[in-house]
Amino acid sequence: MDVQKIREDFPILSRTVYGKPLVYLDNAATTQKPRLVIDSLVDEYYSVNANVHRGVHYLSQQATELHESSRETVRQFINAHSTNEVIFTRGTTESINLLVSSFGDEFMQEGDEVILSVMEHHSNIVPWQLLAARKGIAIKVIPMNDKGELLLDEYEKLFSERTKIVSVMQVSNVLGTVNPVKEMIKIAHEHGVPFLVDAAQSIPHMKVDVQELDADFLVFSGHKIYGPTGVGVLYGKEEWLDRLPPYQGGGEMIQHVSFEKTTFNELPFKFEAGTPDYIGTTGLAKALDYVNGIGIEQIAAHEHELTTYALKRLKEIPDMRIFGEAADRGAVISFLVGDIHHFDLGTLLDRLGIAVRTGHHCAQPLMQRFGIEGTVRASFALYNTKNEIDVLVAGIDRVRRMF
Ligand code: PLP
Repeated sequence: MDVQKIREDFPILSRTVYGKPLVYLDNAATTQKPRLVIDSLVDEYYSVNANVHRGVHYLSQQATELHESSRETVRQFINAHSTNEVIFTRGTTESINLLVSSFGDEFMQEGDEVILSVMEHHSNIVPWQLLAARKGIAIKVIPMNDKGELLLDEYEKLFSERTKIVSVMQVSNVLGTVNPVKEMIKIAHEHGVPFLVDAAQSIPHMKVDVQELDADFLVFSGHKIYGPTGVGVLYGKEEWLDRLPPYQGGGEMIQHVSFEKTTFNELPFKFEAGTPDYIGTTGLAKALDYVNGIGIEQIAAHEHELTTYALKRLKEIPDMRIFGEAADRGAVISFLVGDIHHFDLGTLLDRLGIAVRTGHHCAQPLMQRFGIEGTVRASFALYNTKNEIDVLVAGIDRVRRMF
């Protein structure tokens, strides 16, 4: 993998910040976009733009073809059985809200239970709490050890007669832990319970195959895998999606409407009310093609090398505390240095041109588990280099000496 050549595909990487070369290490929040993704958005607005599905005219048909071929690209990327199983949404958060609302309405009653993990992102906690407030369901939480690994024995003990669904992230956006979701799905299925995988942080970094995992539902955002913002995916097994009620009402999700009764469209349109972000879905497909062109295994190997190198270098810094030491980990490192506030460290690194994230990373229960308020987080993507890690380490050292 020629990283220098890859970097040329990402125009933003050559800009400066405060007169310093940009070192972008906030990829878990969002990734930068290659030129071909940006161009695809502009090109479609320039020469194809028309609303999809409802038009007999040429442009509408062309836009529809692009949109539906993007669905096929996503299907192949995650190895779904059918495009009926690929629902376009605005992103991971909307996908989870959709699922919680529809699944909760249809399959959960007061006293029923959902199993989450202690390291979940707020997007996979709050929708369940809203459901709990509406319907009186209970939330059970899988604990973890100090390394940031979920305790599978405890997980098994959480199942009861009332467990209706499990919803867990594949990779932690804070600790980098890669959770053994395949094994966890198998356990859930042994209890007759479906499983939702939050793949927001796994899809850009590893092969995600919904059939191999046997996931019932899986969600991700386009913007974290080099695609545009505002578009994401809910994958669901067709037999589940068929049984779920629609989420929002409006255009495209209907078959026939009268004031007496409305019948709903077939999958996947049943869950896609209103004009979809058809320009965004084209951009997402281009991003997935781009990743395929490089090869997800090559990307994973490069990021693994970077992460190993970064862990080694960061540990050379005195008073360094790294959160998350799971045996199987991804390209995210959270840390604190001595008693320097994470916000101060992040702000001073920014002045050196280094973009990292500070705060609770939308995982406050996880912060509570460690008894901290927040961390600094560096997260890597396919275009990052060892040199950038050296710049980060030198930057942290400089800030440390200032304090
Ligand atoms: N789940 C995880 C694990 C995440 O890391 C994120 C974003 O950081 C989300 C969900 C929410 O994604 P989005 O804001 O794209 O909906």
